[in-house]
Amino acid sequence: MIDMTHYYEINDSEGQLVDLVPFCSDWCHEQWCRDNGRAYEGWNGAHEHPYNDECENCEAVIVGVESFVDA
Ligand SMILES: [Zn+2]
Repeated sequence: MIDMTHYYEINDSEGQLVDLVPFCSDWCHEQWCRDNGRAYEGWNGAHEHPYNDECENCEAVIVGVESFVDA
């Protein structure tokens, strides 16, 4: 099973996307927003990402889709 990535999107003052903060779950997304004083802007999951990444909240490894491709 592929655990899809959740993202918090950071935009600049002109609304341009400048960074994505990855999470393993929507729960971690909300928790991180509370801890960092940022507004939780709703569920933003089901993103595929190619390589393994780490959840910014709980440091769990989020397995990338490339890791599931059979050699
Ligand atoms: Zn997490």
